[in-house]
Amino acid sequence: MLNQTPLQFYDRRALRINPCKTCQPVGALYAALGVHRCMPHSHGSQGCVSYHRTFLTRHFKEPAIAASSSFTEGASVFGGGANLKTSVKNIFDIYDPDIIAVHTTCLSETIGDDLNSYILDMTLSEGKLVVHCNTPSYVGSHITGFANMVAGFIRYLSLKSEEKSQKIGIFPGWINPGDIHELKRLVAVMGLESIILPDQSDVLDSPMTGTYSMYPEGGTTIDGIRALGSVKKVLALGPSCSFEPALAIKSKCAVETDLIEAPIGVVNTDNFICALSNLSGQGVPSELEAERGRLIDLMLDASQYFFNKKVAIYGDPDTVVGLCSLALELGLRPKYILTGTPGEAFVERINKNLDIYGAKEGVKVKASGDLFELHQWIKNERVDVLIGTSYGKQIAKAEDIPLVRLGFPILDRYGHSYQPIIGYRGAMRVAELIASALMDRIDRDCADEDLDVVM
Ligand code: SF4
Repeated sequence: MLNQTPLQFYDRRALRINPCKTCQPVGALYAALGVHRCMPHSHGSQGCVSYHRTFLTRHFKEPAIAASSSFTEGASVFGGGANLKTSVKNIFDIYDPDIIAVHTTCLSETIGDDLNSYILDMTLSEGKLVVHCNTPSYVGSHITGFANMVAGFIRYLSLKSEEKSQKIGIFPGWINPGDIHELKRLVAVMGLESIILPDQSDVLDSPMTGTYSMYPEGGTTIDGIRALGSVKKVLALGPSCSFEPALAIKSKCAVETDLIEAPIGVVNTDNFICALSNLSGQGVPSELEAERGRLIDLMLDASQYFFNKKVAIYGDPDTVVGLCSLALELGLRPKYILTGTPGEAFVERINKNLDIYGAKEGVKVKASGDLFELHQWIKNERVDVLIGTSYGKQIAKAEDIPLVRLGFPILDRYGHSYQPIIGYRGAMRVAELIASALMDRIDRDCADEDLDVVM
């Protein structure tokens, strides 16, 4: 089907084809699932939340719970205040969460529902909480919604304190549960205690026990979010996901924050480890030095397969910036770099990295793009490998280019969300996936007499 994609470009501003993003509430829902005993709640029609839940469930292969204000015509005309009030009562009565995190939808934003005043008007039982954030889906993307929900938790719950604890705060940005486990391990190896917001580990990768639990073990606790106001510093990872939360904790609780790139790739992980080392006042343990050394060894061993191979990378901005950095470190040649999330800062971040390697010439970098356009670029000048989400598989099939599935969403494979891409271990995994994709292609295309078992 996508073989019909034309070579010729047209100026398209009001139409996205095969988008490289989804809507804000998906991000808000994912962020809310990273809070312990939280029920995400979509203030809009049932159709929206069905889509959001399905989308997350298909990526994580786990149930993504959420409730809805179930708008019908009446609420759409007269406002959804009564619906929200009834939903909140029903959710606490039936599902007994500790907190409900409400996000808006296009419909409730368009009619102008004032969530803040609705929530202030509610009488809640002792120990029960309702927070909210605004997620109009006609601006931004799921990344914007994710950032807004994390900032919403902070604005409602974090408490300013003159006394600082020894803990650090970490805003991990949009990463998989497998990444969060790795993040926790790195922090522990560096001798630090942290509060991570949000934390979907042991929620969206909770083990099969034979008994369904609506609220699994994991998630940032409400006390943890309150205590974020007294940590000695917050490391906010990935500007696209973590700028808003960093701003919120700074302005509400005067907590010092460092905004750095997500630890994807060697240099970005080095920077993260150095930031942890500065906070702990201790050097880097030999365990991590050895991990880094093994990664460098792998990169050198396979360098002849990576060198100068043209790559297209697409997906969410913080992930793509990290993967682009790792691609350059591996000796790959980024050719097309694209995100569907708006924001020209993405282009600047990528260009800064390309400049370091003198690799900017002939590279197309775009924010707010779509995969139709990426396909057109590739039809005009092909690449050796695609790195990104499942939505690139039509391009991969039409153009017969290997696809390395990384980022969100991956709907057509299993096990990916358990495995990290962050840290030195994560970089080893990414390097292995890319090397295997390139070498599989050599095996497939070579003559029988050239099929080599050593390579
Ligand atoms: S109407 Fe808006 S919020 Fe609902 S699914 Fe569509 S884009 Fe998302």
